[in-house]
Amino acid sequence: MNVANMKLRQVINASGKMTILGNSTLTDDIVDAMRLGGQSYYEMADLVVESGRVIAEEIGTEAAWVVNSASAGIALSVAGLVTEHVSPAIAIEQLNQGQPEKEIIIMRGHLVDYGAPISTMITLGGAKVKEVGYANGCTLDQLEANITENTIGILYVQSHHCVQKNMPKMHEVYELAKCASLPLIADIAAEESFQPYKAYADVLIMSGSKAMEGPTSGIVAGKEQYIKAMQVHQFGIGRAMKVGKETIFGLIEAFMTSGEHKQSIEAQIQLLQPLYVLNDISGISISFIEDESGRDIVRARVTIDEQRINRTASAITAALLQGDVAIYTRDYLANVGCFDIDPRPLTEEDVQMIVTKIRHIVGEAND
Ligand SMILES: *Cc1c(COP(=O)(O)O)cnc(C)c1O
Repeated sequence: MNVANMKLRQVINASGKMTILGNSTLTDDIVDAMRLGGQSYYEMADLVVESGRVIAEEIGTEAAWVVNSASAGIALSVAGLVTEHVSPAIAIEQLNQGQPEKEIIIMRGHLVDYGAPISTMITLGGAKVKEVGYANGCTLDQLEANITENTIGILYVQSHHCVQKNMPKMHEVYELAKCASLPLIADIAAEESFQPYKAYADVLIMSGSKAMEGPTSGIVAGKEQYIKAMQVHQFGIGRAMKVGKETIFGLIEAFMTSGEHKQSIEAQIQLLQPLYVLNDISGISISFIEDESGRDIVRARVTIDEQRINRTASAITAALLQGDVAIYTRDYLANVGCFDIDPRPLTEEDVQMIVTKIRHIVGEAND
């Protein structure tokens, strides 16, 4: 294959669903669906309508639309709100002209950088970001007090990236939004299902390549009036976020089968079991921990006793990235002495390779 000429390192992804590593592994069925989509012709307008219909029916929302990423979903849903009350004929022309006056409210604790700042997606959609509350908390009263005649919607982010304590729940913010006659957009990009959230938002945005394990893409689902308003922009800023037919086919396959390929907790533990041998090394301890935001994920935590090992956890995660095979761990806590191995994309060989490489790194440090 011609692509073999590219010089790329092999990666073992023990960090979870990370966009910087290309997210998830596509199954054969998904790749087959993409081949089918990519090798045939369709009337694209019909494909947009039909793919949206099939997905909306499955989720149980009025409408849905396949976009090329959750980020595009955020920008386009904001754009839809900005021009909701102007005719489609001038909506595209009006967007992004001059200083935006229309505001999207977002709590400070939700202003995350998931690899790109979420505020960038709001401004890309043509609205102003109205930050409410503090870095470590926000109340419903604060939200309410910041609603003005310029407010066009509230963006709620449901994510492990967000501040979790002292923040109102999605259903509470939805009630407030309804009272103020404002739509609530919910970014649930990395969550596992639409179901727990669909009653509490007007528009839901999910990434196609995270929990769904599909191709790089996204789904926007919710009330028809908002989906229609944002679809106007497929011939405006949406053109720069175009989604191809092969992607739509792959995403539908991934969406319809999502959950089927999910590893049980038992299977995850079994896969990670070989890491236990590292307990034999004095200064390393292996434990299993549950996902911090309650998803069905178990990870192996490798805790490093710097004194005994003669290397910090950060030095070890850095060393794991070196060499012919780059091993990416979940290293958010490396500065306090531990890192995690996420089982989701790993094979048995990968786990063996991780054990070998950690042994090697630690052995070197003690030579
Ligand atoms: C990953 C993520 C996104 C962006 O998803 P893409 O499909 O990569 O654009 C947006 N919001 C949150 C909370 C995320 O975790």
